[in-house]
Formats: sequence, C-alpha cells, structure tokens
Amino acid sequence: MAAKLDLNRVAMPKQGPLLRVLNFQEVALGYTEEQAIAEANRCLQCPKRPCVDGCPVEVDIPEFIKEIQEGNLAEAAKILKAKNSLPAICGRVCPQETQCEVKCTLAKKGAPIAVGRLERYIADWELADIAKRRPQFIASKPSGKRVAVVGAGPAGLTAAADLAKLGHKVTIFEALHVAGGVLMYGIPEFRLPKAIVQAEVDYVKSLGVELVLNWVVGKTITIDELAKDSFQAVFLGTGAGLPMFLNIPGENLSGIYSANEFLTRVNLMKAYLFPEHLTPVNVGERVVVIGGGNVAMDSARCALRLGAQEVRVVYRRSRAELPARLEEVENAEEEGTIFQFLTNPKRFLGNDDGIVTGMECVEMELGEPDASGRPRPIPKPNSEFIINTDTVIVALGTTPNPLIPATTEGLETTKRGTVVADKETGLTSRPAVWAGGDLTTGSATVISAMGAGKRAAASIHTYLATQVA
Ligand SMILES: Cc1cc2nc3c(=O)[nH]c(=O)nc-3n(C[C@H](O)[C@H](O)[C@H](O)COP(=O)(O)OP(=O)(O)OC[C@H]3O[C@@H](n4cnc5c(N)ncnc54)[C@H](O)[C@@H]3O)c2cc1C
Repeated sequence: MAAKLDLNRVAMPKQGPLLRVLNFQEVALGYTEEQAIAEANRCLQCPKRPCVDGCPVEVDIPEFIKEIQEGNLAEAAKILKAKNSLPAICGRVCPQETQCEVKCTLAKKGAPIAVGRLERYIADWELADIAKRRPQFIASKPSGKRVAVVGAGPAGLTAAADLAKLGHKVTIFEALHVAGGVLMYGIPEFRLPKAIVQAEVDYVKSLGVELVLNWVVGKTITIDELAKDSFQAVFLGTGAGLPMFLNIPGENLSGIYSANEFLTRVNLMKAYLFPEHLTPVNVGERVVVIGGGNVAMDSARCALRLGAQEVRVVYRRSRAELPARLEEVENAEEEGTIFQFLTNPKRFLGNDDGIVTGMECVEMELGEPDASGRPRPIPKPNSEFIINTDTVIVALGTTPNPLIPATTEGLETTKRGTVVADKETGLTSRPAVWAGGDLTTGSATVISAMGAGKRAAASIHTYLATQVA
C-alpha cells in the first residue's frame, strides 16, 4: 500500500527562548520515540534514494528510516554507523536543508523528511546505553600498516575510524588537550553538548584508534619525522583555525575579539562557568557581531547568554544571503538578537583608554552576482552612520594555520593558505601525505570535512595495499 502523503514534519521540542537565554543547556531537545516513528512514517522510501546523493558520507538514509518505521532501532543504528562515525554530532549541526533534505521528494510539495532529527534520535538512543546498543563491527584482519592522522576534528576522526575498520593501526596527533576540533572549541554547548562530542570521540577510540593529545605537528614532531617513525601514510585534517579580520582603522582597540578567541574562551575553556573554570570573558552591554555565518550566530547567542543587554549582528548582504543554518538564524532571532542587514563597518571608534566605543558603518545595496554567485554588496554614497558598542566580535571566516606547510617540504598550498589536495582522493603534492576538511577548502561544514576524511581513507587503503608492512 502506498504511504499517505504527509507534507508537514513533526516539530522537535525545544527550550523556550525566555528560559534558554539564561542557560547554556541544549536548546533542541530531540524527538521522543513516538515523534520519531511518526516522522519516519512520512518517508516515501523512494526507490531512487535522492537523499543519499545529497549526503557527502553516503548514509543509507531510506534504509535506516525504514528500520525506525519498523521499530528496529538497533538495526537503524547499525546502518547509520556503517557510513557515519559521528551521527549524534551530524544530527545536531549538519546543514541538512542544503544537503540530504533538499533532495527529498517531499520537499517538492511540502516539508522534507527531518533526516537530521531522525539521525540524532537514533544516535542518542544508542548513546543512552552504549554498552548494550553500540553496533559491533567485525574488525578486518590487522594489515600491519601504520597511519598518522594529524588533527582530531571531524575530518581526522572520520579518516581514522574508516582506516581502523579496514585493519590499519591509526594514531591521531592533536594539538589541543581535547579531541573534537571546532566541535569542542567553537560550537557552543547549547547547540552541541560536549559530552556528545566526547562520546563519539570515544567511539572512534573503541575502534582501536590511538589518540595522542597536546602534540603540535610541525613543532612537537614534523611530517618528515612521522614518516621516519614508520608511519606509511599521513592524513592532514588540521582545519582552518586562523581568524580573518577586516583590516580597518581601530581594529586593535580593547573590546574587539575574533570570534575564534571569544568562542574558544566560552566553549573550550568554559568561561560561562567562571570562576569555577578559570578563564574569564568580558562581555559588555551592547555587543556587535560582524558576519552572517554559523560562527556569527554562535557568537551572538553566547553573548546574550553571558548577560549582554543588546546583541546586534551586522551583515553586509541581506537576510536571503545569510550563510548560517536557517534553524540557528531563527533561534537567534527568537532569543532577541537584532539583525542589521546591508551594513558594513568602516572603522572602529575608541576612548582615551583604548577601549572600543563605537563603529562607523556604511549602508550597502546589492549589485550583480560576484565570484561567489551571491549579489555583490556595494556601499551607498554618503550613508555613513555610527553604532554605539562596547564589545565587538569579528566573525568573518578563517584560514589554515601555516605551521605544517612551513615545516613540510613539497606540500603545495594556494594563495589563501589552503593545502592543495586532489578532490577525489585527498592526495597532496607530497608523496604518502593526504589532506582534507577545512585545511583544503577553507571554513566549510562538518559533513564536507567528514566526506573528505572518508574519501582519503579509501585512497590511503588502496595505497597501503601496495606497500610492504
Ligand atoms: C563556531 C563555529 C560554528 C560552526 N557551526 C557549524 C554548523 O553548525 N554546521 C556545520 O556543518 N559546520 C559548522 N562549522 C564548521 C565546521 O565546524 C568545520 O567545517 C569543521 O569542524 C571542519 O573540520 P576539520 O576536521 O577540517 O577541522 P577542525 O574541526 O578545525 O579540526 C582540526 C583539528 O586539528 C587540530 N590541529 C590544528 N593544527 C594542528 C597541528 N599542527 N598539530 C596537531 N593538531 C592540529 C586542531 O586543534 C583541531 O582539533 C562551524 C564552525 C565554527 C568555527
């Protein structure tokens, strides 16, 4: 019998905005079993599986949803984990609306299947009783080959998990004192609880991956030394952690943060729990966040939770061009963030103590599309005005840290500082060195980094088959 067409998705419960701006607990609360089954039952089980084409790690989406429809949650978890080692993370932060969900047949007439919410439901179900529910993979015969993975963000964790499942001995070298990359130091607790990230890192470790923390590759050890140390292949997944600035007058005034510093203080060092945790963060009464991506939304929403009276996101294009996930823009609006579109900063103003007091801006209008395909913002003549502020957070994107290219001979980079790697395999200009994730693309998404980690793992596996153990 054909499934009944239901064009409305099941809403996911979340904390109300008045309550949630007072805490750092997770905003979205996840489906109940009843809600998950109701949402799964909307899936038409299309034979052509268009949603799978939209997933960079090729999760068998209709198959895992079918298992939910039939109440086989353990089987659903097994199908999900076969392709995606970090489903509780992806279920929370992937931009599904531009990936799997946009391809859903239901999207032609109504709301697509809430793939991310169902993914999260299954992943959380499994995490609630890991000992009993974790899918057991039959380990491949040990290959005797060793692979070094540099960076424990989504790209590195995915490459490591896939290589370990294929029987290789994998060691991840991570510069920070915790694994997870941006998932730990950038994305706030209220969007992605750190216990969830840790649980998925632990899953990767359970596959036999060794994790070495506090190792800055390029300083503590070089790529050449790793190669000498009997690692037959190296995967670089070191991300793009270097913040970009506007380079306008006054940017060095006190009270102006890069989003990177601000979010690292708040999330990784837990400044929201100061003084219980030792890192403070100073947030004034009137905060301006510059940018329109997920990083800007996270910065604005953290500032509100840390007590700012007014938080204003200043973006040079219009609402339609905001690159942030739609759900997070709506959440930020509900919480009281003010959006000032078509506005660009020209210079910062400060007092005699060198502290920021304001920002001179110019109004913009949209012109023809630029190289990015989005309408080019053009300043309107004589439209300058001042926004008063005591705290500014610059969230304009990031580039890779140059440390590894600077210490690795033969590793080609672009003008933007990204490492050049083959799109399909991740192989770099340096033999036996692969790269993927934000390091090769500049700041992008969790799932695109994971896709790159997966493709590189497959290519490394093929290469290792030609090598003597
Ligand atoms: C605040 C914020 C919010 C975001 N929100 C979303 C979202 O909602 N959805 C989404 O899909 N994407 C989001 N993104 C983007 C996403 O997080 C990144 O695209 C993704 O994390 C990139 O993964 P990666 O593994 O390439 O790099 P990273 O996550 O940056 O991980 C790189 C790791 O390498 C380590 N490292 C760096 N240099 C060295 C070295 N020399 N030696 C050893 N280790 C090193 C770093 O410490 C880090 O742990 C967000 C990004 C930020 C900053």
